[in-house]
Amino acid sequence: MSNLLVTGGAGFIGANFVHYWMKKYPQDKVVVLDALTYAGNRANLASVNDKQNFYFCHGDICDTGLVETLLREHHVDTIVHFAAESHVDRSISGPDSFIETNIIGTYSLLKASKKVWLDDGVNKENHRFHHVSTDEVYGTLGPNDPAFSESTQYAPNSPYSASKASSDHLVRAFHHTYGLKVTTSNCSNNYGPYHFPEKLIPLVITNILQDRPLPVYGDGKQIRDWLYVEDHAQGIDLVIKQGNIGDCYNIGGINEWANIDIVNLICSYINDVFSNNIELHKLFPGAKRAKAGRSEELICFVEDRAGHDRRYAIDPKKSNSELGYQPHESFESGIRKTIEWYLNSSDWWESILEGTYRI
Ligand code: NAD
Repeated sequence: MSNLLVTGGAGFIGANFVHYWMKKYPQDKVVVLDALTYAGNRANLASVNDKQNFYFCHGDICDTGLVETLLREHHVDTIVHFAAESHVDRSISGPDSFIETNIIGTYSLLKASKKVWLDDGVNKENHRFHHVSTDEVYGTLGPNDPAFSESTQYAPNSPYSASKASSDHLVRAFHHTYGLKVTTSNCSNNYGPYHFPEKLIPLVITNILQDRPLPVYGDGKQIRDWLYVEDHAQGIDLVIKQGNIGDCYNIGGINEWANIDIVNLICSYINDVFSNNIELHKLFPGAKRAKAGRSEELICFVEDRAGHDRRYAIDPKKSNSELGYQPHESFESGIRKTIEWYLNSSDWWESILEGTYRI
């Protein structure tokens, strides 16, 4: 039995991870610490809210005292650290919160873990700090460059990726200096349920359903390596259970796609779904192009993001061979599942769009 502290558990990947973990390990206790920024949503955890072994704390990872209290009160042995500011565009227009949460916040968690686990000896031998990071720390690739491996030199290009790189280094340093038992995973782009509708895939789906333009940066040929979010949760699970202390693991599914190809794929799937299901016409009366089977007409190219990385690709050999990691979902099946989820969860995303801002 384990007691987990999941930071950022009300966000996209954190919430999916909580659902994955509580289903797979129903005897474990899960404590979520989340500041409920614009990206955090209690509704993402509604189905576990009433469980005896689930506890939600509304708070900031920068509050070291609060983290120490949670570690002690719940006898936490495992931290899974998702909490972050995560949107590159926001890091360009306002980097402050990225420095605060991603760097200072991670430092605060490490400090609290060291105090409780190492200095005070609670779970001294049996603890784990798992840090969730991104492939963006490695920078950008040319079309023929080999994919990022764990030994690729860090070269972050945006305030977001620089703040994540910095947090990765702090985690490493707390292991080497103090002996904190850490692991880090660097994952490629995720997609799936509960994805905030400012990111490419949910933005495209929800905009088609509202007959709104589908903005595509630059020429749309930027390449990302996509992984279904539950496959990321599975990878983290394997790293926590089987990974070597102090090691980093790249998690990915060898699934490179140009942005414009993804947008076209989603348009064609949604056109298909609307042509076969007349009920959807009533549920989404505004989705005019989708009903006409012409969602692609909504695509519009907009000025490229400043310093936009051209290509990311993960080399997952280490997690494949050492942990036996293999994603379950193909991109086609994962995208279909994701579209279905957004079609069935319009209350979720409509309330987000109404409650915060319209994209
Ligand atoms: P998200 O933006 O959807 O969620 C972040 C969560 O952290 C939110 O619930 C938010 O309320 C919470 N949070 C923010 N600041 C906080 C603070 N100071 N204290 C406590 N909670 C705070 O992000 P996501 O897409 O779910 O990403 C989760 C993690 O995975 C991040 O560390 C990110 O860098 C990493 N990651 C994301 C992707 C991806 O494709 N989204 C890929 C690889 C790695």
